[in-house]
Amino acid sequence: MRRMLRHHHIPHHIWRGVTRKIAVLRGLDAVQMSHLRELTTWFLHNKAVNGAQGLEVTLAMRVAVAAQACLLILNLDIDCFDDWVEVILYPGAFRVNHEQRDAIGLIHNDANVLSGEAWLRGPVILSWDDVERDTYHGQPGHHVVLHEFAHKLDGLNGVANGLPPLRRGMSRKRWGEDFSAAYDGLCLQVAAGQSSCINPYAATSPAEFFAVACEYFFTAPEQLKKCYPGVHRQLALFYRHVPEG
Ligand SMILES: [Zn+2]
Repeated sequence: MRRMLRHHHIPHHIWRGVTRKIAVLRGLDAVQMSHLRELTTWFLHNKAVNGAQGLEVTLAMRVAVAAQACLLILNLDIDCFDDWVEVILYPGAFRVNHEQRDAIGLIHNDANVLSGEAWLRGPVILSWDDVERDTYHGQPGHHVVLHEFAHKLDGLNGVANGLPPLRRGMSRKRWGEDFSAAYDGLCLQVAAGQSSCINPYAATSPAEFFAVACEYFFTAPEQLKKCYPGVHRQLALFYRHVPEG
């Protein structure tokens, strides 16, 4: 690891230039930023970040994607991101070929045009337009990189169901109770046409609820805490990290 970090280090001006503008990293202290840089270096050494449709992918773009993905695993085991090797960046929202859909483990939304998707044990696919917007001009509760890589954590036990492998000491029962209560409540609100406390897309499935809850946990933690304190508590235990609102 140390050798890899030395040989593949990210030039300081690129690291500083990219990360100082990323809103979701603002609450991290110097020690956390230094660890994030190591994880980002590891990520870029082990994963290809490839452009599609002629998109030219710069080192700054790769760092932006990797640093934000690695925020999720800042206090988790590095092998949480082990079972896949590629990120594909499209210039903008992309279309999904329906005939290939059987192979897709997870889909960002039901429309044909997607801003991101994560295949079970396969690549993460992102629209650079959406990544750039969420990275530099993000709205609270909206973050496609965190969303798709949260699906990766969820899928670690072979299914995407909103229950990732929990850390030692965490209770599956409590997790299930806190998430089910929140999800069921949201589904009722959405079905009744009421305005919802978080993005109603979270009512699509427990897997989408988890991914959307993670977006709020890092980008609008106070809102998540207010709407679903139990979910916020479980995510704080899971990520071992309490982002500032
Ligand atoms: Zn999704």
